[in-house]
Amino acid sequence: TRVTLVQNVPTGAPMLNDFKVETAPAPVEASLNANELIIRPLYLSCDPYMRGRLTGSGDRYPIDGLGVGIGDVVTGGMFKWESKFSLWRQATQEASYVNLIGALGMPGFTGYVGLVTLCQPKKGETVLVSAASGAVGQIVVQLAKARGLRVVATAGSDDKVEYVKSLGADVAFNYKTCGSFAKAIRQAAPEGVDIFFDNVGGEFLDATLNCMKPFGRIAECGMISQYNATSETAYHIRNLSQMINKKLTMYGYIVSDYYAKPAYKDFISEVAGLENAPQALLDLFEGSNFGKRVIKVASR
Ligand code: NDP
Repeated sequence: TRVTLVQNVPTGAPMLNDFKVETAPAPVEASLNANELIIRPLYLSCDPYMRGRLTGSGDRYPIDGLGVGIGDVVTGGMFKWESKFSLWRQATQEASYVNLIGALGMPGFTGYVGLVTLCQPKKGETVLVSAASGAVGQIVVQLAKARGLRVVATAGSDDKVEYVKSLGADVAFNYKTCGSFAKAIRQAAPEGVDIFFDNVGGEFLDATLNCMKPFGRIAECGMISQYNATSETAYHIRNLSQMINKKLTMYGYIVSDYYAKPAYKDFISEVAGLENAPQALLDLFEGSNFGKRVIKVASR
């Protein structure tokens, strides 16, 4: 089974009938190219950035994104030095591997980069977080609390508001029922906002520009309120001159630019054949390996 797009979704909100669920032949081992393997997805991630990718290409319109899956290659310890061995299957903690596409994965790191790397928060400052109960926002709330900040959070339902309070937010409000955004922000942060971690953009960003403290910083992480906007419905920011008046800094960023570059020696000191494994191990103590020593036991 696969999900594709029936057609491009260039403007406006995507509709359910833009998608097609269909049956297609599954890949078979024999048809794989070198370096390919078959993956069975366990979890597929839904992320706001995917909206920008629903534009399609060619005659088919595949959809892709982050995921967690299993394939026919396994790694881990302790592998026996045998050409074939059996291994106990370990009961898998589902919650731990689904976090690879959540708190421990791209969204969690997005929160870290925006708040910590870019805005450099200081103890005692006030941070305002929009969409605070979401994948990115809930990490930002907790990182900020751990650094001694006062956290003001917004979310779109009372349940979500309670949730972000349970994470440690000092004040939280439902932006759908609060009335004037500027009034609600001023009430929650009477002395102003030092750091705004913005997931939403549009009118909420506009209101916050008026509530920032001098020299405030804005992590412009996302603008989900605008992703489905058309030229008729797009919100036009009015308070941008506050960037000058209040000497603000706004950081736009894409998390993938911050993924670590490999810091290891990209060189493998390969020894072929299990029978050569003992010598390969002893060589380490003589220093005759250069780079990471591995033993090649078999080809696929
Ligand atoms: P979330 O888990 O926060 O899900 C999206 C949430 O956004 C919804 O639950 C909803 O929460 C809120 N929302 C939806 N529509 C609107 C609207 N019109 N106005 C206000 N709020 C709205 O998503 P993520 O945490 O994954 O992403 C959050 C933001 O971060 C997105 O804008 C995304 O594009 C961005 N992002 C940016 C990255 C980067 O590299 N810069 C990387 C990853 C994400 P509620 O009920 O509270 O309204």
